[in-house]
Amino acid sequence: MSCTDSPIHVYLVSFSGQGHVNPLLRLGKRLASKGLLVSFCTPESWAKQMRQAGSISDEPVPIGDGFIQFESLHDGWPDHDPRRQDLDQYLSQLERVGKELLPRMIKHHTDQNRPVSCLINNPFIPWVTDVAETLGLPSAMLWVQSCACFSAYYHYYNKSVPFPSEAEPEISVQLPFMPLLRYDEVPSFLYPTTPYPFLRRAIMGQFRNLEKSFCVLMDGFEELEHENVQYMSKICPIMTVGPLFKNPRAPIDTVRGDQLKADDCVDWLNSKPPSSVVYISFGTVVYLKQEQVDEIAHGLLGSGLSFLWVMKPPHKDSGLRPHELPDGFLQKVGDGGKVVRWSPQEQVLAHPSVACFVSHCGWNSSMEAIASGIPIVAFPQWGDQVTNAKYIVDVFGVGVRMGRGEAANELIGRDEVKRCLLEGTVGPKAVEMKQNVLRLKKAAEDAVAEGGSSDRNLQAFVDEVRKRSIEIEDKVP
Ligand code: UDP
Repeated sequence: MSCTDSPIHVYLVSFSGQGHVNPLLRLGKRLASKGLLVSFCTPESWAKQMRQAGSISDEPVPIGDGFIQFESLHDGWPDHDPRRQDLDQYLSQLERVGKELLPRMIKHHTDQNRPVSCLINNPFIPWVTDVAETLGLPSAMLWVQSCACFSAYYHYYNKSVPFPSEAEPEISVQLPFMPLLRYDEVPSFLYPTTPYPFLRRAIMGQFRNLEKSFCVLMDGFEELEHENVQYMSKICPIMTVGPLFKNPRAPIDTVRGDQLKADDCVDWLNSKPPSSVVYISFGTVVYLKQEQVDEIAHGLLGSGLSFLWVMKPPHKDSGLRPHELPDGFLQKVGDGGKVVRWSPQEQVLAHPSVACFVSHCGWNSSMEAIASGIPIVAFPQWGDQVTNAKYIVDVFGVGVRMGRGEAANELIGRDEVKRCLLEGTVGPKAVEMKQNVLRLKKAAEDAVAEGGSSDRNLQAFVDEVRKRSIEIEDKVP
């Protein structure tokens, strides 16, 4: 089959950022493997990094029974424009330019005899659903956080549950089928004092447009948040299709959305005994204070555990200074520790030498760890991370808590770091967490396997897109 023969063409538009690109690209690969032609579009500034990292190709790539191809959207600003670091400005610019360019890009496909049947976006760019509506095309949204966070935003938007306010900043929040959330366990962009109100606005924009999406796909699986998924799916057309990073139809593929080329660390992991290494990464946006990095380094030394630590350099326009490790740190750890700029995280978490994951609890990292059977030392900072940490520790029973979030403004000392690392790696708590996480890993594998809950949902989505595409064709005079 050549890619132009594919009858169903879905067009995916992703906001920049690893935490957005990874899940949408994974969805794209899952859809392609079910026989669809998938076009994946990101802002050019991000696409360029993906090309430089060697993650994507200029040609359509076969995946399973279908194909994936890449396009980019020029945001209208010159290369290296520092305004991209200011999300408030950047989001408006992207909307202004995107609303103009995207319809032309979609029309180009129609002219090339590859008409688009459905648009799918991720949060922060809700205007994609407006474009779809204008073009008379169906659209869906991929929610890249947990169902618990979806519920929190949904009830906040609809004002159906009281949330912390300026008058009552420290009230707890009771959402249906969820544990009581302390004020600092609610997604932090909803705090009245959040330093990121524009992110709250961006997410609320998605909820304002919710009715325009015929389906909300979620990178989670029903068995993980069963009652909540059941409840929310009665209110909204949600469907769990994750964990998307596991693709049984194409377990090994080279199409990735990485912004950096991964450093080699697998040989080093191969040299370590089973379940002996602590993996540390705080994702791509969190940037810890230097004092906190010092305490983590000393905590690691004190624990005597081997570690693989991702220290991603800050963006050159961020105004942040690169982190430094304490004097003589690397000499002291010798072969017992490795520091890299970027890791192949899925491969690392699947490696038998890894014992636990010190994580900021971004949803992608959380799903990857849980579905790989790795317990988490939870060090959330903001956004959904604080809610994810609550679930990881208190609901799923697969994590120990190392902090409560940026709003607490506390420095976690080296002794506490050491205590958490050891608790996550050795002793009865570590054994209990491992048993729990292995149960969830199995449930995740079953969900994505042929006939599992996520696989059935994905197939139902593909069938619906196919049905709607025939309806569109029938309408064309
Ligand atoms: N990641 C990676 N290598 C690294 C660090 C992160 O591949 O060295 C990937 C990770 O697997 C995950 C994504 O980057 O898919 C980060 O997403 P997450 O939601 O965890 O955090 P964010 O960066 O959005 O805060």
